[in-house]
Amino acid sequence: MKTLHPDILIAGAGIAGATVAAGLRGRGYSVVHLEASEQPLDSARGDHLGPRVVETLAKWNILDAFFAAGAEKRLGAKWLTADGDLVMHSSIDDLPLPHPYYIVLNHDLIAITALDLAVKDAAYDYTLFRPVAARDITTGAEAHGGVTDVTIKTPEGESVSIQPRMTIACDGRSSKIRARV
Ligand SMILES: Cc1cc2nc3c(=O)[nH]c(=O)nc-3n(C[C@H](O)[C@H](O)[C@H](O)COP(=O)(O)OP(=O)(O)OC[C@H]3O[C@@H](n4cnc5c(N)ncnc54)[C@H](O)[C@@H]3O)c2cc1C
Repeated sequence: MKTLHPDILIAGAGIAGATVAAGLRGRGYSVVHLEASEQPLDSARGDHLGPRVVETLAKWNILDAFFAAGAEKRLGAKWLTADGDLVMHSSIDDLPLPHPYYIVLNHDLIAITALDLAVKDAAYDYTLFRPVAARDITTGAEAHGGVTDVTIKTPEGESVSIQPRMTIACDGRSSKIRARV
């Protein structure tokens, strides 16, 4: 069986996992990433990313890719009656934030736009296995109860033992990783 020793294993490539994978570019880590579903992600998700998320996306060098994918800036929201009279206007452009707006991007594009940054960065020691679910998970005292091994079968049928230094569980609400540690 082939064995990999990445610095970081990420389980799940939804919004969280894809963004973390993109955010780790250029930091010198080797990363192995597992995503259970076929492309593209087909689950309905929201389109709104708040000011603090925008700040993080900028810090992680992802924000420009979201604008290139069609994201739009919003400074607040207005609530109107059926006759068009203003009920309430919440504006965030006067808040002391580096990015005093939220962005709106079609939910189908959010994870894939971030994931593309990771997949297409030739200088990034990054391997995505897809569709592959993290199921065969071993934990141990040497990792303080954390993950020591995840054994997978690749789509080509090869068995691979992944022994990471650190695991980031981004495999959603019913996380298999969180259930094990
Ligand atoms: C209708 C709706 C509207 C929403 N609107 C908004 C909004 O406007 N703004 C906002 O911020 N939030 C919104 N949310 C919440 C937001 O969608 C979630 O918080 C977000 O999708 C969570 O992302 P995630 O990556 O943690 O999990 P998920 O999106 O669930 O991704 C988990 C990923 O892990 C994969 N996976 C699962 N198990 C394994 C495994 N064992 N091994 C490998 N991979 C695995 C799955 O295939 C999936 O791709 C909305 C949610 C819904 C349902």
